[in-house]
Amino acid sequence: MSEVSEGVQAGDRTLDGAATGGEVELDGLTKKYGTVEAVRGISLSIRRGEFLAILGPSGAGKTTLLNMLTGFEKPTSGAIRINGRDVARLAPHKRGIGVVFQHYALFKHMTVAQNVGFPLRMRGMSMREQRGHIQHALELVKLEGYAARFPDRLSGGQQQRVALARAIVFRPALLLMDEPLGALDKRLREHMRVEIKRLQRNLGATVIYVTHDQNEALTMADRVAVMNDGVVEQLGTPDDLYERPSSAFVADFVGETNFFTGRAVLDPDGRVRVVLDGDRPEHHRDVENVASLRPGSGVEVGVRPEQVSLLPPDQAEAPAVPGTVSDVLYEGATALHVVETPIGDLSARLSLGSIRETRWDVGDRVAVHWDARAARGYPAADRAS
Ligand code: ADP
Ligand code: MG
Repeated sequence: MSEVSEGVQAGDRTLDGAATGGEVELDGLTKKYGTVEAVRGISLSIRRGEFLAILGPSGAGKTTLLNMLTGFEKPTSGAIRINGRDVARLAPHKRGIGVVFQHYALFKHMTVAQNVGFPLRMRGMSMREQRGHIQHALELVKLEGYAARFPDRLSGGQQQRVALARAIVFRPALLLMDEPLGALDKRLREHMRVEIKRLQRNLGATVIYVTHDQNEALTMADRVAVMNDGVVEQLGTPDDLYERPSSAFVADFVGETNFFTGRAVLDPDGRVRVVLDGDRPEHHRDVENVASLRPGSGVEVGVRPEQVSLLPPDQAEAPAVPGTVSDVLYEGATALHVVETPIGDLSARLSLGSIRETRWDVGDRVAVHWDARAARGYPAADRAS
């Protein structure tokens, strides 16, 4: 049997299958557009039924990566295997992949049912056979009763749900989504996150979900691949990324981080510590991931705002940093306190839940403190910005 006809069969077989999640392997995947290397040698494995988010700023290469999976773009080099089969020479519609884009791209002259049934028609299924699959897909996205409507009579959220139904109607092994909620307002986006997760669990499908929204990535994904400039900077679970960012870029892009510059020093006990610019030189601070730091070289230290505490100056222990509150931004359950200090301006996010919590006002003198385990050090040259 040829590679192509096997692919068709695998695609068709998924129509009846229940849990059909595909296993995906990218091996040294590279895409060049002239001199621009949009994707540079990405290798990663995506497990059956996994929800992988690809998170990164605009221009990172996320869409290019997805387009190579769908077959809309041909890799310059490297391989893509779905369930162990190299799909390089398979046409897009023979890869068993459902795709949802930011812009719904529904056919305006077709009803909802005709839109959803389109992939089935492309696969040569008769109208009679299509009906049950369309009905089921519409149920999954909670649009039963909308089959006869035209897209222009639907809200943005409903249109995106039709696009979802169309992507899942043939029970793809792999569902690819490129910023699918990008055009929706915040409330709807949050609602759709839950819907998409539910859908994925019901289908057992493997999902690769592209977004530049870190909240979306952290809340939805089993693992997140942070992309920057054509490469994966870090691949990990949401809490890996948030609590143990492996680079200053990731610390900055995922969540908020205060950065301080300084210099690595090797102490007599053999431990690498950091002296921060503007800090008392005798304050050799412990930071996490010292393995990446070379004594004598420049360092950036990152501390999350919620890891920073503010104390009355007379209650602080060394090596607290003295500061003055310059701004308090009320956030509801928390308040972001901006503090001017000799090591630079920094933010402390304090919980307002407890009534015993000290409230600080602009102009208050404070001592800034954080636990050494909450501070991560990165080589200063790590980040090109
Ligand atoms: P993202 O989806 O992360 O915003 P893209 O994959 O769209 O990023 O783009 C990655 C890089 O590749 C960008 O520098 C972009 O300008 C370039 N690029 C994307 N598509 C093309 C194309 N068809 N021709 C030339 N350059 C492209
Ligand atoms: Mg894109």
